[in-house]
Amino acid sequence: MRLANVGGRATIVVPGSDDRGVDVAEASGGELGPDPQDVYESWDAFEAFAADLDLTAEAPATFDQADLRAPVPAPRQVFGIGLNYRSHAAESGVDVPAVPATFTKFPASITGPFAEVELPNGTVDWEVELVVVIGRRADRVAAASGWSHVAGLTVGQDLSDRTLQFAAGGQFSLGKSHRGFTPFGPWVVTPDELDDPDDLALGCSIDGETVQDARTADLVFGVSQLVAELSAVVPLLPGDIIFTGTPAGVGFTRQPPRYLQPGETLDSWIEGIGTIRTRFSAPAGAGLVGGEQAGRPDAG
Ligand code: ZN
Repeated sequence: MRLANVGGRATIVVPGSDDRGVDVAEASGGELGPDPQDVYESWDAFEAFAADLDLTAEAPATFDQADLRAPVPAPRQVFGIGLNYRSHAAESGVDVPAVPATFTKFPASITGPFAEVELPNGTVDWEVELVVVIGRRADRVAAASGWSHVAGLTVGQDLSDRTLQFAAGGQFSLGKSHRGFTPFGPWVVTPDELDDPDDLALGCSIDGETVQDARTADLVFGVSQLVAELSAVVPLLPGDIIFTGTPAGVGFTRQPPRYLQPGETLDSWIEGIGTIRTRFSAPAGAGLVGGEQAGRPDAG
């Protein structure tokens, strides 16, 4: 099943369609939704409702792509994992960490799957990532049962201001949380929709030129392991999200480095989930840290 946020309302996308959906609140007689975030708080009830739902008996409404918002609009916790693909650790010139290298993207940086994002300076980089959505509270969960706490998967970009990220000994959380730096969507796909949710092709392109192309099977800490490792420290709550890390092909490790420019379009996709599209505009105001790149980065 694919669960979208259409104009602020939880919507089940009709199988085989990209623009028709059933409103969860209407179809459940007001038991669930309409706020998409509330659906994750009631994931067991939602799954039972969805299993019984006869989509052919409903009257799906057509929606515009432009009305799709972030499918998880207000998570209480947003985890980001750095250096979680060997290929990206290698291009960054560092070893794969023994524990997940974890930061946060502050929730107010979340934006939708077809958003325009302002570039605060000339050193903003791309990072396509598989994003995990928690459906059931996870507290000290074993890796073997990690997946049972996952509601679904979606496509994200961990946009990163490399200047701020590497300033003052490392400002990962702030440097990845400028306005609009956390686009994801276009919907959440439940794991049962995927042949192998641990092995999905993912990539992204700038104005049609592919810059990242990999598979999630190459994750150092896979989905179930991340649920275990993180929940050993802090409980994961329904509606939390995890950006699982990016593969090789980012801009700052290139010679010369390449960064996103105003007017460029970034398409990011994951097999079996979908594609998000982010457009970039020129800075409207001065950033916290100005354009010059601050030294040799060591992670991302
Ligand atoms: Zn990342």
